[in-house]
This record gives sequence, structure tokens and C-alpha cells, in this order.
Amino acid sequence: MRKRGKVFIVSGPSGCGKTTVLTEVFRHYDNFHFSVSATTRRPRPGETDGVEYFFITEEKFDDMVEKGEFLEHARYARCSYGTPRGPVEEKLAQGVDVFMDIEVQGAKQVKAAMPEAVSIFIAPPSLEVLERRLRGRATDDEDKILIRLDTAKREIAESVHYDHVVVNDDYVRAAGEILDIIHGA
Ligand code: 5GP
Repeated sequence: MRKRGKVFIVSGPSGCGKTTVLTEVFRHYDNFHFSVSATTRRPRPGETDGVEYFFITEEKFDDMVEKGEFLEHARYARCSYGTPRGPVEEKLAQGVDVFMDIEVQGAKQVKAAMPEAVSIFIAPPSLEVLERRLRGRATDDEDKILIRLDTAKREIAESVHYDHVVVNDDYVRAAGEILDIIHGA
């Protein structure tokens, strides 16, 4: 147990396998709090308010921004996303590590506010593999796949600003690399 918890920021483009890697990480590591973000996007089937996200209106989101209640916030795919500050501070003070799955603009804001935060970018082995994975999901039409690929290219370009880049060539290996980063921090 640490005296004060550490913040671990994890980003990665859609289709890079971030959820699978993180699920594997958390099988081996449990002294952490996973930050639940607020978002203005609609819940997807199977998502529950307060579990994956706090699903809130644009008005409520703007109100929270105004009151300084977010540690960071950003627009992504025409919706707003933000990390509520309160629970993060509370857990860190209790010596509990905090994980946040946020996109690149938010990651920059957290690094600026908390330079001691550890940032990890999960990257696909190649753009070809990413494209294959996005197409394999078969849930999106061609337009959406191309937009996601384009976004992914821009996100990957931002990975140079992260403390660590972990390539998800194999999710168990990638999870092991992240566990080494956590234990070394
Ligand atoms: P999705 O809508 O697919 O759940 O998430 C879309 C993107 O928003 C993902 O890249 C995810 O990491 C990012 N995201 C989720 N919560 C937050 C947040 O609180 N802040 C920021 N900046 N990005 C977030």
C-alpha cells in the first residue's frame, strides 16, 4: 500500500484492445480505483448509469465545468467527457491508486495538473491490424470505420507525449508490461 495513491492514465485508439488488456491487468492487481467519468453520450445497450459512466445532460456537464468539478474534460466524437475531481482526490489520499481511461486531450490536462501521474498509451501493432480489428467487429458501417481509423492515426501521433507506449501484440504480454510499470512506479 502506498502512502498516497498514484494516478495511471491509460489511452488507446478504438479497436486497440484496451479493455481486454486492462481486464487482464486487473486480474493481478486490486488496490486501485477505476475513475468513473461523466459523459453526455447516450448509454449503449448493457451500460448502467454510475458503472461505466455517469450519463448526464449537456446542461449538467456545463454546470460541472463551471463549478470546477472536473479534473479534466474534453470533447470526443461530438460528446463531452470528464473526470470528476472529488473521487480521485479522495482515493489518492487513502493511498489507493487511481486508473483513468481517457483520451489524449484529457491525458494532457491531467499530466499538466499532476506531473507525477503515469501515462500509458496502448497502441495496436500496426494500422493494418487495427483496421482488421475494426472491420472484424462488423458493428460499424464503412464511413464510421474510416473516421475511427483517421482518429486512431491522430491519436497514435500523440503517443510520443506519453511516459510509456505499450504495443498490444498479445494482450497477456501487454498486461504484463503494464503490471511492471505499476509496480515500478
Ligand atoms: P466511449 O464513448 O467509446 O466509451 O469513449 C470514447 C473515448 O472517450 C475513449 O477514448 C475514452 O478513453 C474517452 N474517455 C472516457 N472518459 C473520459 C473522460 O472522462 N475524459 C476524457 N478526456 N476522455 C474520456
